[in-house]
Amino acid sequence: MGRHEEVASALTRVRARLDAACRDAERESAEVDLLPVTKFFPASDVRILYDLGCRAFGESREPEAGTKVADFSADPDVTEPVHWHMIGRLQRNKVKSVVRWADTVHSLDSSRLTDALSGAVSAALDAGERSRPVEALIQVSLDGDPTRGGVSVTDLDALADEVASARGLELGGLMAVPPLGADPDAAFAQLREVHADLMRVHPGARTLSAGMTGDLEAAVRHGSTCVRVGTALLGSRPIVSK
Ligand SMILES: *Cc1c(COP(=O)(O)O)cnc(C)c1O
Repeated sequence: MGRHEEVASALTRVRARLDAACRDAERESAEVDLLPVTKFFPASDVRILYDLGCRAFGESREPEAGTKVADFSADPDVTEPVHWHMIGRLQRNKVKSVVRWADTVHSLDSSRLTDALSGAVSAALDAGERSRPVEALIQVSLDGDPTRGGVSVTDLDALADEVASARGLELGGLMAVPPLGADPDAAFAQLREVHADLMRVHPGARTLSAGMTGDLEAAVRHGSTCVRVGTALLGSRPIVSK
């Protein structure tokens, strides 16, 4: 089987899983976006997903992401706009390159990063390198373990206010990954409450980015509006230590 057929059948299976999850949760399929995660896979795989109708992709590492976006965008057959999501850990020294390609960032988790990202977007807007603000999702840590990224629930409100008023950023919502070893249902149920509280103050922060290959059903049960799926679409990634 060629790569196109392989990815096409994987995409069909993932869409069927997502539809079934929505049905079980008594939700409309249109309420949950599928975000294909293409990190570690070549621009040719992004192109296959694009040919299959995908118009948004998640990447997580520099400089891999910037190079891939440039390669993909240089393809003359790519004529429709594509929305790029930065889903990985954001490093302050990389924000300048990230704002060259990212439309949405899923992993904002501190004041210092908010300042850095806002500054980089503002500079890019002023220089005409981009024309739109960055949609910023705040990553929440459900167990408060700082090594895996995410702001603690306690510090979320203050950070959300900062992001909402930062130049060049639009507060889009929240992202989370369940703590290692945690029951995804319990984690996503907690996340949904945290998100509902946030929306009382920031009604525009509608996005709830939750769920991956292993736990998308649980995430959909608890209100996810965006599942980030890599392995089930493109296969296993190489194991790397970071
Ligand atoms: C890599 C990654 C994913 C995709 O995970 P899979 O288990 O391969 O679907 C989702 N979210 C984040 C933040 C990631 O880094």
